[in-house]
Amino acid sequence: MADYVIRATAARGEIRAFAATTRDLTEKARKNHNTSPVATAALGRLLTAGVMMGCEMKGAEDLLTLKIQGDGPIQGLTVTADSRGNVKGYAFNPMVMLPPNDKGKLDVGGALGVGVLSVIKDIGLKEPYTGQTILVSGEIAEDITYYYATSEQTPSSVALGVLMNRDNTVRQAGGFIIQLMPGAGEDVIGRLEEKLKEITSVTTLLDEGNTPEMVLENILGEFGLEINDRIPAAFTCSCTKKRVEKALISVGKKELQEMIDDGKTIEVNCHFCNKNYAFTVDELKDLFNKAR
Ligand SMILES: [Zn+2]
Repeated sequence: MADYVIRATAARGEIRAFAATTRDLTEKARKNHNTSPVATAALGRLLTAGVMMGCEMKGAEDLLTLKIQGDGPIQGLTVTADSRGNVKGYAFNPMVMLPPNDKGKLDVGGALGVGVLSVIKDIGLKEPYTGQTILVSGEIAEDITYYYATSEQTPSSVALGVLMNRDNTVRQAGGFIIQLMPGAGEDVIGRLEEKLKEITSVTTLLDEGNTPEMVLENILGEFGLEINDRIPAAFTCSCTKKRVEKALISVGKKELQEMIDDGKTIEVNCHFCNKNYAFTVDELKDLFNKAR
């Protein structure tokens, strides 16, 4: 099952929902960044949240950034998504190893620690919208739920999961976001709460062969689920050598001269996809001439 996000509504628009399967993009992130299992879980969960939240935006150029900064050993995560299913991201310290938590699960909360979640939406306005909330548990799904409740006043149920194979490759990844829209009736709210109690793990559902459509049908079928959109999703980075050149030119003549004086080919790393771009001394001299 290739990665994708579905957008749906239910209960005549009183409920809005997203669901995603994100195994391939999480596995690509793991491979690119060579993440440890707990970092793969943390990054995979935030990528899954990001790709669904990105699909909430309307404009083709809109960008969503999710940033977590914590005092735990991973230190933080950054994920950027557009509205067309493209997402990328990285862990500040991707090699962290931790013992499992008291439930025997990968200790994402312990790896992130105490900190802050920032949601930055660049939707073409002069200033991007920024919402910040404290981390409730560091397990990410609860933190996103808390963000929606406090910053957007939208009651939400968020599930995010990454399931690993024994060899630490990604077996399943995915999630859902179910939200109550303004004016949702008490009856709908009560029945939805009951229904959500039955859901144990989104990755278990995916591993049993359920598609994101089936996961939502399972929860929202009785509310008259309507699937509105199906968006292919992928880990994609827009970096190119040209863009890195521009960045190097912008650091200025002084720094470029120092690099040239070192007399060695330099490597510039893209944080988001971990790709390295090499620049020879001759290329640096060329950039020096273009710099101010
Ligand atoms: Zn890149």
